[in-house]
Amino acid sequence: MKIIHNKTCRMCDSTKFKVVIDIGRHPLVNSLVPKDRLDRKDPTHRLVVKQCQKCNLVQLVDIIDAEEIYKKVDYLYFSSDMPGLDKYFAPYAEEVRDRFLKKNDLVVEIGSNDGIMLNLFKDTQRILGVDPSANVAIRALKRGIPTIPLFFTELLAEKIVREWGPAKAIIGNNCIAHLNDVRDLIRGVKTLLAKDGVFVIECNYWGGMVKNTNYSLIYHDHYSYFSLQGWQTFAPQYGFHVFDAVVTPAQGGSLRMFLSTDGRPETERLKALQREEEVTDLNGYKTSLRYRQNVLQAAKKLRQILRDLKRQGKKIAGYGAAAKGLTILKCSGIGRETLDYFVDDSPAKQGWYTPVDHIPIISRDEAERRLPDYFTILAPNYADVIIAKEARYRERGGKFIVPKGEVKIV
Ligand SMILES: [Zn+2]
Repeated sequence: MKIIHNKTCRMCDSTKFKVVIDIGRHPLVNSLVPKDRLDRKDPTHRLVVKQCQKCNLVQLVDIIDAEEIYKKVDYLYFSSDMPGLDKYFAPYAEEVRDRFLKKNDLVVEIGSNDGIMLNLFKDTQRILGVDPSANVAIRALKRGIPTIPLFFTELLAEKIVREWGPAKAIIGNNCIAHLNDVRDLIRGVKTLLAKDGVFVIECNYWGGMVKNTNYSLIYHDHYSYFSLQGWQTFAPQYGFHVFDAVVTPAQGGSLRMFLSTDGRPETERLKALQREEEVTDLNGYKTSLRYRQNVLQAAKKLRQILRDLKRQGKKIAGYGAAAKGLTILKCSGIGRETLDYFVDDSPAKQGWYTPVDHIPIISRDEAERRLPDYFTILAPNYADVIIAKEARYRERGGKFIVPKGEVKIV
């Protein structure tokens, strides 16, 4: 694996960091293993979350080169395979369209995956996706979403604006955390965005992670863990201003921000969130230390619960072979000694194995023949959806373990 050792903070030039949490060696949780490669040793790399002492950005300093993560043909995360995600994006796209767009305006999405959101603009606006993973771009193209299979950079932005003209909206959902060079990103956005355009970001939220003791987001793909305050300091250096922000339920609490360069007035909900970050001292190192303690406790508790059940002779399987779930398991030290298999509804993952532990991933139909006493839900965002559709399994005595903050058994 190609490791990049950053010498300075991603958002400022500070070289001083403090450790938030060190969770040991983890594999690339989005790189599942096919059967014919089970005899090889999967690479792992240490995961240490640090906090910049100057601008407070929580981040990974030593990172795995994104080329290695997204350029692999076995990068198997397809947005459209995620249950309920289309329903999440519908009102989001509607809001962007109603507030900021006219017919035939250009909408560019960075990290557009298989086009799940751009598809919602297809009939009213011109659309263009940018996503470095060829696998997902192939799918986007198939459904008629023009997609450039490259990383979004300032250089690419120059090329796009020359051919397509300026964009009225640039959207980046769950992608800026994956970028090492956020300065190049924002320069690129400035190049491509119309003077009266809007840059909309949705990213993981440090506030949500702290509030819910959520550690499932800590993996090699996520280089940064953002707060509103961080962006309010960073964006003005490039002529941008955050004029609106809200926390959404995605990923257990995501931060959605609206930025522009034309001096729009700040919304009330932005001011409220800003106050909340101040009151809770979200960006202080003391908060980071408390987070560490809570995470270690939650991971330990999950390990105890699963080991006790195993000791009682119970059969346990995983539900949802998602990156977040694999992170939870690794943090808790749970592997194939505890889990018999994973169920995953994404056909792209079925027949594959989890990295390092090589736990098989099967379809729900296949699991029907050997149902466990307990399913651990390892796609915590979808716990409600999964439990609701598994009424029959529960009627027959099946139980679910939900490791979402406090571990719950239902
Ligand atoms: Zn910094």
